[in-house]
Amino acid sequence: MAIFTKNQQEIATRIESETKQSNWVDWKWQVRHAIKSLEEFERLSGITFSPEEKVELQKTIDHFPLSITPYYLSLIDKKNYLNDPVFKQAFADTRELYVSPSEMKDPLSEDHDSPVPGITHRYPDRVLFLVSNVCAMYCRHCTRKRKVGDVDSIPSRTQIMDGLDYIRRTPQVRDVLLSGGDPFLLSDDYLDWILTELHKIPHVQVVRIGTRTPVVLPYRITEGLVTMLKKHHPVWINTHFNHVRELTDSSRKALAMLADAGIPLGNQSVLLAEVNDCPRLMKELVHQLVQNRVRPYYLYQCDLSEGLSHFRTPVGKGIEIIESLIGHTSGFAVPTYVIDAPGGGGKIPVMPNYLISWNTNKVILRNYEGVISTYQEPTNYSNSQCDMNCRDCNLELDLKGACESEAVGIEKLLADYDETIALVPANNERMNRREEYEEA
Ligand SMILES: *Cc1c(COP(=O)(O)O)cnc(C)c1O
Repeated sequence: MAIFTKNQQEIATRIESETKQSNWVDWKWQVRHAIKSLEEFERLSGITFSPEEKVELQKTIDHFPLSITPYYLSLIDKKNYLNDPVFKQAFADTRELYVSPSEMKDPLSEDHDSPVPGITHRYPDRVLFLVSNVCAMYCRHCTRKRKVGDVDSIPSRTQIMDGLDYIRRTPQVRDVLLSGGDPFLLSDDYLDWILTELHKIPHVQVVRIGTRTPVVLPYRITEGLVTMLKKHHPVWINTHFNHVRELTDSSRKALAMLADAGIPLGNQSVLLAEVNDCPRLMKELVHQLVQNRVRPYYLYQCDLSEGLSHFRTPVGKGIEIIESLIGHTSGFAVPTYVIDAPGGGGKIPVMPNYLISWNTNKVILRNYEGVISTYQEPTNYSNSQCDMNCRDCNLELDLKGACESEAVGIEKLLADYDETIALVPANNERMNRREEYEEA
């Protein structure tokens, strides 16, 4: 496929007669002409709806706004749009207005684990930093639907400065994940400023950027952008391809520019019913990603955000997909399948089980083919008691006096130097009763 296809040419001329390729590949032109209304969608795509359908669709987009870049629109197969994975990710579906009882506005409790607006500090050593609430294309499956297009959620410069201050005064933070909205909808200069400020903080070791622009607005990846990003290494980027149809010549070129700038690329897919809930399709997707130097990072179970019921699959579908990848294809082509736990528990990996059984000196494993093997464990392994005194340990770990954090969760139960023997949920009734006896 060429960079400027016949279909794209047609859409471009419907937007502005005599639009040239140089306009089409200008990302700001694409953002300016993002399709936000039903009428514009019909006019540009050639897909039309009945008056009744339009009434319902309008209600949907009044609630969850529409925005599609002309580029992403051009990928829709209009002859078969009802089955089209691009159409389904980009265009409103009246089922979005159905809110099932288990759905929430903020299922991941991101707004709760937020020390300052825009920052979610959930894990010990890294933070999520929302620096933009703008996206070129509004994914219909967005987990942050609550914020999309909401003018009150645009992070101001002061809010960004407050976020930077929080990171500056929180030395545990060694990894900052810029997200939004899409950080690449900010200007090069603004992004340069944020990255420069982050770079100055000695304890920030890496910065990651989550962006869907390589998928929905590949022209955003310009020489100017990559030259700027290169100044701030180590910068990692995660993007969001869900379907092979999204890997076009333009998006491949964008990925190549980023990879050539030395940026490690990862991909986070969301498992979506009727879009990519198919092991064969996912295998093809991960193969094409690694061919383009993108490492499949996560496969997400669709979150419990409001209006996403029609996109959700059972968890078993994800396990089935991973089962079809592990062993069957390159290890680095297999993403980790995760469920982002409602209530703020963070990402929890759910993978097929390979450990079938074990006794005191042997484990029984099965492989992807169904071969069942034994692994004999050492009988002479003496577990050295760890007292966290690395200086005298023969493993020669030199932490250079780095401040270590305390063990957390299961890690704490496994540690020799910690005396915790059980983790008990808050408000456990049995424990509350104990307290009552003890008081009595
Ligand atoms: C996903 C996420 C991160 C990063 O998690 P990784 O597993 O390190 O990729 C950090 N903070 C929040 C709040 C997240 O949701």
